[in-house]
Amino acid sequence: MDHEALRGWSKRAADWIADYHAGLRDRPVRARALPGETAALLPGSPPDAPEPVEAIFADFERIVPDAMTHWQHPRFFAYFPANAAPASMLAEQLVNGMAAQAMLWQTAPAATEIETVMVGWLRQALGLPDRFTGTIHDSATTATLSAVLTMREAALGWAGLTAGLSGLPRLRLYASAETHSSIDKAARIAGIGQDNLVKVPTDATLSMKPGALAGAIAADRDAGHLPAGVILCAGGTSVGAFDRIGDCIAVAKSAGLPVHVDAAWAGSAMICPEFRWLWSGVEGADSIVFNPHKWLGAQFDCAVQFLADPGPQVRTLGLRPAYLETAGREEITNFNEWTVPLGRRFRALKLWFLIRAYGLDGLRGRIRNHVAWAGELRDALAALPGVEIVTEPALSLFSFRLAAGDRPTEDLLSRINDDGRIYLTQTRHAGRYAIRVQVGPFDCTRDDVMAVAEVVADLMRRD
Ligand SMILES: *Cc1c(COP(=O)(O)O)cnc(C)c1O
Repeated sequence: MDHEALRGWSKRAADWIADYHAGLRDRPVRARALPGETAALLPGSPPDAPEPVEAIFADFERIVPDAMTHWQHPRFFAYFPANAAPASMLAEQLVNGMAAQAMLWQTAPAATEIETVMVGWLRQALGLPDRFTGTIHDSATTATLSAVLTMREAALGWAGLTAGLSGLPRLRLYASAETHSSIDKAARIAGIGQDNLVKVPTDATLSMKPGALAGAIAADRDAGHLPAGVILCAGGTSVGAFDRIGDCIAVAKSAGLPVHVDAAWAGSAMICPEFRWLWSGVEGADSIVFNPHKWLGAQFDCAVQFLADPGPQVRTLGLRPAYLETAGREEITNFNEWTVPLGRRFRALKLWFLIRAYGLDGLRGRIRNHVAWAGELRDALAALPGVEIVTEPALSLFSFRLAAGDRPTEDLLSRINDDGRIYLTQTRHAGRYAIRVQVGPFDCTRDDVMAVAEVVADLMRRD
């Protein structure tokens, strides 16, 4: 296959993609594949001779789509969304076509500069002060790891990078139990250790208790430990918990600790001013992560980290060996120095296309609809006999269960997902099994959302 053949096949792929999206409502949302089924359809060894693209494409159509869970399905209400708005998919096709590596300014000047401008656009869209700059990572996990490594090194006066961590006091991090497992992972791989991630108690609203945070920091200092930083939760993954960001930041600041805010999912909603009270005080954070690749519509992957001062993170993560010097332009922004991997994709182009093609008003309208429809759906489910709401909507996320208990609820969920008209996933809350509903597919309609109540009622009737 050469580039002239690619021209034709790209057109064929574009048609395939358009037909795929047009037909999504007719497909079961969650894959019906069984483990091992797809692998068994592939030869065990690679071909020695080239094969015609026609055959490869035909096998793709035969094997792949039916064995996929359809994340762009308008009735995908599981996990959190990974929305790919059409305009962002178009940008990704162009990025794929150029196939550049954006590690340094000079390896992709437009990628670096559009990234800087897009981070600025999003900063304004979210209502953050203009001292925040930032970068685009692959995932919130990488952003949080970068923030935690920076906390560690700032606490150690940048000694750990070269001398390692042995013989030092125990470093301590603080977060509530509602924070995502990516914080536990960061504590593990930063060499701090999961046991040194203190899970600060929450109150009845699932917010970290500021007084308990202050107490935990003071007790650790008394014990000779070295507090390094606080990670706050703005929209937890399980049921959408929010810490009281401003109050907790005040505690962290008075203890001299940096703060990273994980708003991976809920950050997108902050383009709507009426939701910003949920993270009020966030402007005091040192680092904030949110994933435009979740709710906003920028195709995966796209995780934006805002930094009040990039200096400490660049000092922690930046290395400049001779082969990466950029003759005479050493002051320029080289985004690899802001993150863990050296190689980087050109992720900003899809934000540029997305924000322009829908406008902030178009994106806000979708999020407002999702939040409103989640409220209507919550009421429709609550009205079904035998259904209980477990957690009330946090933006567009809530959870429910059957009054009959965990087993019947679990059984209902597996029947919902085998049925295929909608897709939901589970969590545990206050010791009980609950079914999560998040309303977030980019182009879902009110009918798509209300179908959840119809499917649940239908399956309960058949019981
Ligand atoms: C999804 C999510 C993450 C992890 O995001 P990745 O980009 O997949 O690493 C972290 N925190 C929260 C609150 C999330 O919802």
